[in-house]
Amino acid sequence: MSAFQTETVLSVRHWTDSLFSFTATRDPGFRFQSGQFAMIGLEVDGRPLMRAYSMASANHEEELEFFSIKVPNGPLTSRLQQIKEGDQILVGRKATGTLIAGNLIPGKRLLLLSTGTGLAPFASLIKDPEIYDNYESIVLVHGCRQIPELAYGEQLVERLRDHEFLGDLIRDKLHYYPTVTREPFRNRGRVTDLIASGQLFSDLGQSGLDRESDRVMLCGNPAMLAELPAMLSERGFREGNHSEPGHFVVEKAFVER
Ligand SMILES: Cc1cc2nc3c(=O)[nH]c(=O)nc-3n(C[C@H](O)[C@H](O)[C@H](O)COP(=O)(O)OP(=O)(O)OC[C@H]3O[C@@H](n4cnc5c(N)ncnc54)[C@H](O)[C@@H]3O)c2cc1C
Repeated sequence: MSAFQTETVLSVRHWTDSLFSFTATRDPGFRFQSGQFAMIGLEVDGRPLMRAYSMASANHEEELEFFSIKVPNGPLTSRLQQIKEGDQILVGRKATGTLIAGNLIPGKRLLLLSTGTGLAPFASLIKDPEIYDNYESIVLVHGCRQIPELAYGEQLVERLRDHEFLGDLIRDKLHYYPTVTREPFRNRGRVTDLIASGQLFSDLGQSGLDRESDRVMLCGNPAMLAELPAMLSERGFREGNHSEPGHFVVEKAFVER
């Protein structure tokens, strides 16, 4: 059996010159937990060209969804950005990743901190009803350089607020905080700085960071992933993993090549 299955693209949407999202069929045998990633890609010159991608769809959804960067001259994304409805993509059979509910010890408030396409695993998690059973409140922070890069997340949250089954839970428990660094906007600044200064919490009218009640998931750029875990560790938060749940978990949104 091949390590990859072939899926059919169902829809594609371009958000900016550097961001797009797409949906694809899902093999009923493809299991994953909300927040995990898999290898996806295209067949190029008869060989699979694969990269890690977080599923932006929840584990209960029938279709797969992905939120993607377009890297200029990127081996995969220079091709992947051309896909259209009816095209075929490859999806690895095995999903993995640390951004799963079970890697955190129980808490009251869940902070989902992302930059750029690091939003993708959290797009999956905030569609999963289980997360709303586990936490009293969920704060989704999405940092980008410019306002148009927020559009995918903004529309996702808007759609969920109107969702037939999840809508009430989301309106009650999900606090969405988009922020940009390079132009005027209602929220401005880097995610790390907003946490360190406490600005995020005062803007939301919530209490400050607290190890007893806060659990944190991080997915973003290398600078954020260098700074925030260090800051959390200084405050007594312990990193969780598959063998031992902790106060926070971390996933790279991409690796520098
Ligand atoms: C665990 C994990 C999950 C990932 N999930 C996603 C996802 O959901 N969506 C997604 O678009 N990418 C994701 N990536 C990145 C993805 O694997 C590829 O790197 C990306 O698709 C670009 O592929 P490429 O072949 O075009 O360029 P690559 O050769 O892979 O990358 C070239 C360069 O582009 C930059 N880059 C790559 N990916 C990104 C990105 N997402 N944002 C900003 N800069 C980037 C880096 O500087 C990198 O050195 C993930 C990576 C990891 C490790």
